[in-house]
Amino acid sequence: TKPILEVKDLYTIFHTPKGDVSAIEGVSFSINEGEILGVIGESGSGKSVTSLSIMRLLKKGKTTIKPESKILFEGKDLLKLSDSEIRKIRGKEISMIFQDPLTSLNPVYTIGKQIREVLQLHRGLGPKEIDEEMINILKLVGISSPEKRVNQYPHQLSGGMRQRVMIAMALSCHPKLLIADEPTTALDVTIQAQILELIKELRSKLNVSILLITHDMGVIADMADKVAVMYSGKIVESGPVEEIFKDPKHPYTMGLLQSIPRLDLDEKRLNTIGGAIPNPKSRPLGCNFAPRCPHAMEKCKTVEPPLTTFADGRSASCWLHESDSINVSQNQTAGI
Ligand code: SF4
Ligand code: MG
Repeated sequence: TKPILEVKDLYTIFHTPKGDVSAIEGVSFSINEGEILGVIGESGSGKSVTSLSIMRLLKKGKTTIKPESKILFEGKDLLKLSDSEIRKIRGKEISMIFQDPLTSLNPVYTIGKQIREVLQLHRGLGPKEIDEEMINILKLVGISSPEKRVNQYPHQLSGGMRQRVMIAMALSCHPKLLIADEPTTALDVTIQAQILELIKELRSKLNVSILLITHDMGVIADMADKVAVMYSGKIVESGPVEEIFKDPKHPYTMGLLQSIPRLDLDEKRLNTIGGAIPNPKSRPLGCNFAPRCPHAMEKCKTVEPPLTTFADGRSASCWLHESDSINVSQNQTAGI
């Protein structure tokens, strides 16, 4: 399998009235055909900025992506495309779904009108074909009596139903890559499980690659093939999901795993990591995680840890693994 998306050394900088803030500092990863890559981290870690950088949806003039960064989609560098070229890819070859479908659906138009618009814009179908395709796709995402639903407005649907509509719209153009940014965070637990099940089902039916952004390790366990753990603008650990759950290398990953609620423990309290993500304007000198890390050593506070690559294709940036490495790289963030 070949990679659909390769992000190489992504640096994204925000220009604010109070000075520049580097939101993403050298992120690299790749997603193969039909694969689900989960990107996990707390809010503020740079997950959403990464996806907005890929889609080129960050405000011009207020952000800069370093010229050495590359975002290769089927080998083509999205950062080098003109605005009109990227518009042709966005929503057609790469689609996106967000946390809250109410903010992405237009409240004044019916569901049908909004889906028709997408099909018309990107597929160039005639009116009759559009109507057929619309019903098919709504059935595909598990919406019952779609003929009735198309005449309804977003507020007339439940949260779960709205997310199904968003997924239908995102997939209506047969994208090769779907970026799902916290797609179930706003939904209650039962509905969340149904939507995740639907996304998995569609992945196998349509062989679409998925970049799944979440703050929930449970979602990663359930959905992803590979995972990239983000902390303060960098990927600190990455690799196959089973490996990382079995044997996390980075203390931050360990902390995230301990914060998953466990049904087998009669304990309501969540094990959360103390402290907060550093302000990107004043990151610590050494390891970004040092102020919160139970294993921090003296050198962690002054020198950034190198990237350690392990034999099973995993990598982590942490001084604890300096001697385990089969390859220590100058590039300081983990990539898969
Ligand atoms: Fe903790 Fe040091 Fe590893 Fe950073 S480099 S995660 S502070 S042990
Ligand atoms: Mg976010």
